[in-house]
Amino acid sequence: EDEKRTRLRQALDLAARLYHHLLVNTDHGQPARAYLERRGVSMETIREFQIGYAPPSRQFLLSFLKGRGYHEQEMEEAGLISMRENGTGYYDRFRGRVMFPIHDAQGRVVGFGGRLLGEGRPKYLNSPETPVFHKGRNLFNLHRARQAMRKDQQAVLFEGYMDVIAAWQAGIRSGVASLGTSLTEEQARVIRRNAEAAIICYDADDAGQSAADRGLELLQEQGAIVKVAQLPQGMDPDDYIRERGAESFRRDVIGSALPLTAFKLERLKKDFDLRDEPQRLKYLTQALEVVADLPLAIEQDHYVRRLAEEHRLSLDALKQELRRIRRRK
Ligand code: ATP
Ligand code: MN
Ligand code: MN
Ligand code: MN
Repeated sequence: EDEKRTRLRQALDLAARLYHHLLVNTDHGQPARAYLERRGVSMETIREFQIGYAPPSRQFLLSFLKGRGYHEQEMEEAGLISMRENGTGYYDRFRGRVMFPIHDAQGRVVGFGGRLLGEGRPKYLNSPETPVFHKGRNLFNLHRARQAMRKDQQAVLFEGYMDVIAAWQAGIRSGVASLGTSLTEEQARVIRRNAEAAIICYDADDAGQSAADRGLELLQEQGAIVKVAQLPQGMDPDDYIRERGAESFRRDVIGSALPLTAFKLERLKKDFDLRDEPQRLKYLTQALEVVADLPLAIEQDHYVRRLAEEHRLSLDALKQELRRIRRRK
């Protein structure tokens, strides 16, 4: 059983090396090199992340691994090839894609994410669940990020491979991504084990925001200090870095991430027209509900004061209202 897994990992490692070699050293890799260059990924980063290219051919990896003594059944178990619909043979799972190797915590290749060079569907194709690859447990880039996570006691959670990579180039070394699924409890636990704080930096679109909501609950349950980074509507971290640069990303996005409560209050605000008196009262009542749920009295105090200042209200009145809400709970 253990021996089998070792063989699968060896096949995956060979695949990563082959895809990387093809990208970096051959004419076949030219379109993928051009694609990555357009996206601002440097050669140094390509080497660091062992990024590769799977050519369009249906038998490229298959015949290479055959030549190295691997059976089709093993390759399929490793998630590298698939059975034809009519059951008459196998073909490469990844074709015509830029390949991002995914490593386990020990730094062993256990799977891939593959992105199409152009438009088309699916844009990303990931390895399936296999005996060595458990999507709910692994995090992209964990083995590289762990050192920075421990040192800074802070992790940054992204949605996509390209976000982690762009952030890495921008000097954020503690970035990880969940793997094409929303964050799981196990992944949240892994993050918390390595750092006391986590910054969620998801895409500023509807999908990203609801994924962020689920993610921050899980991280909080694990006892992490959670912050949420704000991006301009419609952008993701990779877009931001390309358009506004590394320094602004570090300062205005990561460095300005909002503590969870501030984030919740900011978001709540967007549902109301604060110039309208009745709406403003509604907002304040709901804001106090958020504050009333805070576990620490000093935290509650901090945010009541902020609300009082921001809306030029008497602190006493707000505190009285807060006490009433707490009694109701
Ligand atoms: P790019 O910048 O390359 O266009 P992205 O990383 O911004 O892509 P999103 O569409 O924002 O891509 O998706 C975020 C992440 O979700 C991807 O990096 C990938 O991990 C995952 N993902 C997206 N589409 C798919 C898909 N069709 N199947 C599996 N995972 C996907
Ligand atoms: Mn998105
Ligand atoms: Mn995105
Ligand atoms: Mn993107």
